[in-house]
Amino acid sequence: MKEKIIYFDHAATTPIKKEVLEEMIPYLTEQYGNPSTIYKLGREAKKAIELARERVAKALNADIEEIYFTSGGTESDNWALKGTALANRDKGRHIITTTIEHHAVLNPLKYLEKIGFEVTYVPVEPNGIVDPNKIKEAIREDTILISVMLANNEIGTIQPIKEIAKIAKEREIIIHTDAVQAVGQIPINVKDLGIDLLSLSAHKFYGPKGVGALYIRKGTRIHPFLQGGAQERNKRAGTENVAGIVGLGKAIEIANKNLNEYASKLQKLRDKLIDGVLSKIDYVRLNGDRYQRLPNNANFSFEFVEGESLLLLLDTKGIAASSGSACTSGSLEPSHVLLAIGLEPEVAHGSLRITLGEDNTEEDIDYLLEVLPEIVSKLREMSPLYESVKKEG
Ligand code: PMP
Repeated sequence: MKEKIIYFDHAATTPIKKEVLEEMIPYLTEQYGNPSTIYKLGREAKKAIELARERVAKALNADIEEIYFTSGGTESDNWALKGTALANRDKGRHIITTTIEHHAVLNPLKYLEKIGFEVTYVPVEPNGIVDPNKIKEAIREDTILISVMLANNEIGTIQPIKEIAKIAKEREIIIHTDAVQAVGQIPINVKDLGIDLLSLSAHKFYGPKGVGALYIRKGTRIHPFLQGGAQERNKRAGTENVAGIVGLGKAIEIANKNLNEYASKLQKLRDKLIDGVLSKIDYVRLNGDRYQRLPNNANFSFEFVEGESLLLLLDTKGIAASSGSACTSGSLEPSHVLLAIGLEPEVAHGSLRITLGEDNTEEDIDYLLEVLPEIVSKLREMSPLYESVKKEG
């Protein structure tokens, strides 16, 4: 019998939806044509890609020709940053970002620094939200690009992108947002946000892995990402991942349709979890703003607890969760996001990220609230520091 797993790691990835998979299967089997060919089999593959493009555009309120398919969030971020930096280097070489971006943004920026660009990392407030005035203060004559994520993958905080975009536009600076965690969780309207570039990834909203998209507002100066054939209007060459793109299109259509219902269900579960953890366990803090956060995210730090042990003990109880810095797991470094919001390294180590999904129920939360206090106490029993704090009362 398959062991039941309570999956609380939807920010890492989500299971593919049955309806999504069903739409993909023909493009992995009998509809195998290459979209660049002119006979029926190829034309049908091309049509399927264009339908997906239409669906993505509709979900974001973008124009169809503003959507470009990629291999995922990492590629979209790399393209957005390197593509605009190279295309606009005649105007300047300064880029602004924040200290809590994903590594898919931070590492391409590191690379750009190596080849002559300068990057300002604007700190966030202790609640994990960046103050738009601080972005404004960081702007220089030679600033060409601002990149701020829409929602943080560890602590779920939602950034004031509309305000930041307004500041960028007043100075004619290109504005990119990594919306990989936000799409499928909160409504997104690229025109209303006023942004130029937006990254998304299908596996975060019940679509397949290895496929994403970059929204590029018409008129944005950006270099192509991959050179080769003429796919994606000469901007991103290579035979398309047809089935993946079809899955992305279907997944975003479903996610957008169910957005309100999904968000209000998860928000209720999230709030029950937050209230429960804060009331049942001492020496705990909720990371990230209490309200300006994704409906499915709760991130806690427990003092006198080692994060990896916490995750392993939860695993023995059938609970899949993460410490948040999923993309750096295996590294013993504390999360850069938690350090950026002011946590001490030892406390940052004891963090737990719970990200809910539509499969989660109230019983799952009750179960977590039952086992978590026991696990935390067990781990603290092994901490000499906790023992001495307890004695001091
Ligand atoms: N940006 C953010 C905010 C993310 O959470 C992730 C996925 N962890 C990525 C980018 C990278 O996306 P992908 O896994 O599709 O490459």
